[in-house]
Amino acid sequence: MFNALVVQKDEDSGKTSAAVKQIGEDDLPHGEVTVAVDYSTVNYKDGLCIGPGGGLVRKYPHVPGIDFAGTVEESSDDRYKPGDKVVLTGWRVGEAHWGGYAQKARVLADWLVPLPQGIDTRQAMAVGTAGLTAMLAVMALEDHGLRPGRGPVLVTGAAGGVGSVATAILANLGHDVAAVTGRPETEEYLKGLGATQIVQRDELSEVTKKPLESEQWAGCVDAVAGVMLGRVLKQMKYGTSVAAIGLAGGAAIEGALITPFILRGVNLLGIDSVMQPYDNRVRAWERIARDLPMDKLEAMVQPATLSDLPGLGRDILKGQVKGRVVVDVNA
Ligand code: NDP
Repeated sequence: MFNALVVQKDEDSGKTSAAVKQIGEDDLPHGEVTVAVDYSTVNYKDGLCIGPGGGLVRKYPHVPGIDFAGTVEESSDDRYKPGDKVVLTGWRVGEAHWGGYAQKARVLADWLVPLPQGIDTRQAMAVGTAGLTAMLAVMALEDHGLRPGRGPVLVTGAAGGVGSVATAILANLGHDVAAVTGRPETEEYLKGLGATQIVQRDELSEVTKKPLESEQWAGCVDAVAGVMLGRVLKQMKYGTSVAAIGLAGGAAIEGALITPFILRGVNLLGIDSVMQPYDNRVRAWERIARDLPMDKLEAMVQPATLSDLPGLGRDILKGQVKGRVVVDVNA
């Protein structure tokens, strides 16, 4: 038997509750690889899945945790053998399939990636789905012409998980990073990650009728959407791109007109980490190992245990988590 955070649903009231419980290997779902989990994390989707599910959880009881890193214990797939270090992100693990909030997990071999050289399982989860997404966003911007020296790159939701990692990666690559935050107390933290400018969230929170604003940004990683993305699109330099990764500030792009796309040739690139093919995930993890300074990563980490998760799930949905929560499932 081993520990897991189990979310249950009361059929009569429809209410869900989450608690650390003992489960057995026989309870684990079908899969080719059984992993002894070392660490998991808290992402926005985990907040949803720890609570009422938000349409993501298919069946209760449920073990959330959309990502994890650990050591292969058993494998019926030739690509993995006991003792291999692996990392998992995406594939609806922690949503439709039991996830990383347990001391063991069982998944399909295709969903895993071997941990790259130079990163241990704790660092892999300090990066986690949020960091992988940040890297995918930077790679997409580079594929569309982003290079250092073309002007400041904006990161919205900067003190959050994706924003923190994006700030550190971009700064390390030599970009001038403008970090947007609604939490003034995080300014020093963001500067420590390499941000050269802090933009107050309020400056980008009002809808304007102007079709365009003065050109400012050479690229943008946007975790917020809503009104802010509408404003940012109008401020992009000619021929640049916004990598949209999330919607912490609302599901719509508000106040945006077609003008930035037509008159400034701005690209809006959608980034999804969930169904990334194996080769892309391997390439992104290799870039993370190369381009993300591990001392900066350490500054983002907030440690946690399985029993902290119900509270942290609520916090992340309110936008109150700073950086990356790393959950030691064996603590
Ligand atoms: P976090 O909660 O860690 O960060 C989100 C940040 O957005 C907050 O820290 C806050 O930053 C800012 N924010 C929150 N609410 C608002 C608001 N109402 N208006 C403006 N800014 C706001 O979440 P993550 O970084 O983990 O994820 C961010 C988004 O990306 C989520 O929507 C998530 O679902 C999505 N996501 C998408 C992935 C993909 O594959 N596309 C993968 C991972 C996440 P600050 O305090 O600095 O202002």
